Amino acid sequence: MIPQIPENPYLLLTPGPLSTSKTVRGAMTRDWCTWDDDYKQIVQKIREELIGLSGGGENYTAVLMQGSGTFAVESVMWSCLKPDSKILVLSNGAYGKRMGKIVQMIGVPHRVLSWEEGQQPDPGQVEEILQTDPAITHIGMVHSETTTGMLNRYEPHARLAEQYGKIFILDAMSSFGGIPLDITAPTVDLLISSANKCIQGVPGFGFVLARKEVLKSCKGNSKSHSLDLYDQWDAMEQDKGKWRFTSPTHTVRAFLQAISELHEEGGISARHERYWANHHSLIKGMAAVDVQPFLQEEDRSPIITAFLEPESPDFSFGVLYEKLKAEGFVIYPGKVSHAATFRIGHIGHVFPEDFERLGAALQKIRFW
Ligand SMILES: *Cc1c(COP(=O)(O)O)cnc(C)c1O
Repeated sequence: MIPQIPENPYLLLTPGPLSTSKTVRGAMTRDWCTWDDDYKQIVQKIREELIGLSGGGENYTAVLMQGSGTFAVESVMWSCLKPDSKILVLSNGAYGKRMGKIVQMIGVPHRVLSWEEGQQPDPGQVEEILQTDPAITHIGMVHSETTTGMLNRYEPHARLAEQYGKIFILDAMSSFGGIPLDITAPTVDLLISSANKCIQGVPGFGFVLARKEVLKSCKGNSKSHSLDLYDQWDAMEQDKGKWRFTSPTHTVRAFLQAISELHEEGGISARHERYWANHHSLIKGMAAVDVQPFLQEEDRSPIITAFLEPESPDFSFGVLYEKLKAEGFVIYPGKVSHAATFRIGHIGHVFPEDFERLGAALQKIRFW
């Protein structure tokens, strides 16, 4: 006998995977044939919905890619960079660094421009490079830098890309669906996100929203077969929703349910407001136990917040983690290299009331 799976014993205050609704999980109770029309229609509907959410219109197309979000980032880099391309990666955290690592391993010409975690990428410095290094063809950056919770203001960089005729790639992994944006103004040529972040699906695939003209020019570039974004798109287009290789069918069905729940909530702007309400409720609860956020207010996002560890010698992240877990909340360790931090995510099927309960739990368990 396989034991019964218990209800979720805790909320995931982690930005992916995150807490999902019972109905999203419930959408996974049947099996699907990966090449049957019933299933392919679900895929096509998702692709259409994603373009709708991005404001992309007919010049844009959506490609789904198996794996976690990083696989989708890597598929863009394998497919869209040629030997004579040169990408400028802007980095102010672990995910920008990861993008740099991917292009380095692919072996295309690249340049990584870095700022301290907690500092906004500076368009002035980017423009200077664009003026002096005409070999650059692409600019890549992260929107919501999940390391710190910083919302990078990508718009000035996208405008520079427009002005200088470069292709602009945005890792909007932890922001798409939770922060309103218009993919056409300023132009984002390739936007990358995944199923298990702000759309509130379960993990299993990522997706790329691409300007058709740019994606068409990527044919034949990829040296990775399974991560070839153009081929994946071509198969999905030609065969109306077919993936080239085994697709995560249950995850895909759950994702369609998650999209319909996003609409029920009132769309991206309503979700954005809830995430901010979560953030404010969280900040209040933490302040009450003398814990302060790492970033100044104008740089914070409604996605995740990094907190400075209290200076008390009694404080330990491991103890905090275990005590909060026992109270029904799972949190995230820090990822900032120059400061002791920990992180609490506020995206997913979680509400301001949950953060009020978290505040009460913090008062109860306080040991610093
Ligand atoms: C979650 C995330 C990714 C992808 O991480 P995976 O673990 O591969 O899903 C990439 N970039 C950012 C900014 C993220 O938040």
